Amino acid sequence: MSTIPQHDELAKRTGHLLAACGAKVTNGDQMARTPITGGSLGAAGAAGDIGAAVDRAHDAFEIWRTTPAPVRGNVVRRLGELLREHKSQLGELVSIEAGKIRSEGLGEVQEMIDICDFAVGLSRQLHGLTIASERPGHRLMETWHPMGPVGVISAFNFPVAVWSWNAALAIVAGDPVIWKPSDKTPLTALACGALFQQAARENGAPEHLLQVVLGGGKQGADLAAHEGVPIVSATGSTAMGRKVAPVVAARFGRAILELGGNNAAIVAPSADLDLAVRGIVFSAAGTAGQRCTTLRRLIVHRSVHDEIVEKVAKAYESLPIGDPLADGTLVGPLIDGGSFDRMQAALETAQGDGGTVVAGGDRALDDEAPDAFYARPAIVTMPGQTEIVRSETFAPILYAMAYDDLDDAIALHNEVPQGLASSIFTTDLREAETFIGAAGSDCGIANVNIGPSGAEIGGAFGGEKETGGGRESGSDAWKGYMRRQTNTVNYSRDLPLAQGVNFDV
Ligand code: NAD
Repeated sequence: MSTIPQHDELAKRTGHLLAACGAKVTNGDQMARTPITGGSLGAAGAAGDIGAAVDRAHDAFEIWRTTPAPVRGNVVRRLGELLREHKSQLGELVSIEAGKIRSEGLGEVQEMIDICDFAVGLSRQLHGLTIASERPGHRLMETWHPMGPVGVISAFNFPVAVWSWNAALAIVAGDPVIWKPSDKTPLTALACGALFQQAARENGAPEHLLQVVLGGGKQGADLAAHEGVPIVSATGSTAMGRKVAPVVAARFGRAILELGGNNAAIVAPSADLDLAVRGIVFSAAGTAGQRCTTLRRLIVHRSVHDEIVEKVAKAYESLPIGDPLADGTLVGPLIDGGSFDRMQAALETAQGDGGTVVAGGDRALDDEAPDAFYARPAIVTMPGQTEIVRSETFAPILYAMAYDDLDDAIALHNEVPQGLASSIFTTDLREAETFIGAAGSDCGIANVNIGPSGAEIGGAFGGEKETGGGRESGSDAWKGYMRRQTNTVNYSRDLPLAQGVNFDV
């Protein structure tokens, strides 16, 4: 029995799902496809004009910036309700367009719902400090104000969740959003855009508060370069960030960069090995290795190295691969053939460096789906951290290395250019605290006894070094979407100067 659905049925289903969300596709050069079959889903629309979108966003900003923040929150509240109502349709669309298994597609929608809840609360909490003034009869305080249009450039692998982290915060902060989704996932963007428009309309919000502008690198680059976009939040590869960052900096814009990761887990001898194996397999093979937080490097104490590798390899052999919408599937397709080719090239290089492929790495289901690219997750033992291990290959390859001493393990862990997510499996309090301490992991995310992937929206999300330094989602990430103003108010009849300066006239 075939495990891959018929392409025509999938295409028809996609049309129904889009219609259920109120989204319309139009003719144009931006095409949609599904990695499930590798087939085309037809045109999504035309590539947009960033200049015109920025002009419209400024019109919206004129109204939105003086709309009270709790009133702005009403749009996000309604968006959250609509996302709840359309959770199953949107989740399925994510699976069809990005290839995620059903529960991860639904999880991505849940992440949007969660950030909406968070942002609605935030709309009544955009608080500044009041600070003791050195001058009598003066009040010193900080207030936070909207910045202007936020450009959001998103990656294919989180086609909607990362947009929502940005958009929910930006909208309550008073900023219109121009969203340039990945050209590999235009349909989910159109569906979310349609639901947002409904929420905005029902709340009397200005037109063009959110604009979805389809396109590829050109539209992304135009957004990064536009003087009228004070904040550019760009999620994607380090190569993309390397282009965007200097362009935004050159015009003194603010960039929020969420770039590639090369995430590791240290497994200490005291670890609960069964728990570690479960955490490792989810983090390394889940989403077919296509998460920015995917576990790519396993640094295991020599005394348990072989046992861990063997257990992970055994788990890999029984991972159900196939139609991401089918019950029981745990590994869906890679996004495209280019991704599969890069995986094969990386495996070849690793073997040339002395690595051994212990399990997986080959193509699956190519008879049933010749235009799609399903790959068995690979685990490769490495004699050391060679260049290929230090690079992010966006596919399910887990490199395993042995260590003898925790300090060496942490040094190896940090000895990569990226700094997104990390974890340690240990039951030793000293090791755990060392790992998350000042001389431990240098990543934006450091976990204990869970893998590096699967963050909640409550904490700020992002990474250091080549990951770009941006923070999105929870905690005080909202400050990235607003400008801080320091106010000194003199309510006395005198004019004392700070630092005791005299200037009597
Ligand atoms: P990508 O870099 O190919 O594309 C990302 C986005 O950038 C797309 O919308 C693309 O059209 C746009 N783009 C491309 N060139 C551009 C340019 N010159 N100027 C402006 N925009 C441009 O990435 P991808 O393949 O879609 O996604 C996978 C990558 O994203 C991985 O490296 C992954 O680690 C990273 N990622 C990071 C995070 C994070 O939070 N750190 C989250 C998701 C994905």
